[in-house]
Amino acid sequence: MRRKLAAGNWKMNGLTDTLGQVKALTDAHPDPQVDLLLCPPATLIAQMAWARGTHALQIGGQNCHAAATGAHTGDIAATMLKDAGASHVIVGHSERRADHGETDADVAAKALAAHAAGLIAIICLGETLAQREAGKALAVVTAQLKGSLPAGATAANTVIAYEPVWAIGTGKVPTLDQIGEVHGTLRGALRDMMREAEGVRLLYGGSVKASNAAEIFSVADVDGALVGGASLKAEDFSPIITALENA
Ligand code: PEP
Repeated sequence: MRRKLAAGNWKMNGLTDTLGQVKALTDAHPDPQVDLLLCPPATLIAQMAWARGTHALQIGGQNCHAAATGAHTGDIAATMLKDAGASHVIVGHSERRADHGETDADVAAKALAAHAAGLIAIICLGETLAQREAGKALAVVTAQLKGSLPAGATAANTVIAYEPVWAIGTGKVPTLDQIGEVHGTLRGALRDMMREAEGVRLLYGGSVKASNAAEIFSVADVDGALVGGASLKAEDFSPIITALENA
């Protein structure tokens, strides 16, 4: 059985005065029946780790460098995220692929560094609208998976997040059939690539909110969600968590 995962990506949002959301979330879900993860800006990781106290809430970074140390001004090593209290790191988010030119090979190298540091890598992939309209969505995500999954990936150290670029922050969501088709394709591709394919969690991400979470979570091979905007406030994230617990 794959344990479900509700993950929040705060992106470049959040100052210390937003840490109250952690208390609100942990108070609302004192004994969560799914894994809970928040990925705040790196500046808040250590404080969030302190704020969660003994709660099972897990904390992640949003990016890491592929190198363990060195002359990389402004970058953060996976070991640093771990040291600050993170257990996970998102790699290959489409905003990083687009804004920083990250390739599949870069993403694989970052995931490898994450694994070496003892972090779970959440590897993001997803097609653009043009690629979907050209009928290439399945080929694109399969190629991204093959290029972004590092050697040594296991069900324990790797999560895959399918995030169609055109659904992120837009309010547009693929149909349930489209989500199921991609997740089924990714599961099949994983079977060709690794022994533990059945155990790898596949998250859907892109405009998940309280009103659509339950139906998305009913789709086969959707093991949770990576949530952007609706993870910033506990009152918005909480019903998504509840929907996943009830899925
Ligand atoms: C994301 O960027 O990972 C994301 C899914 O964003 P949103 O939920 O806001 O679409």
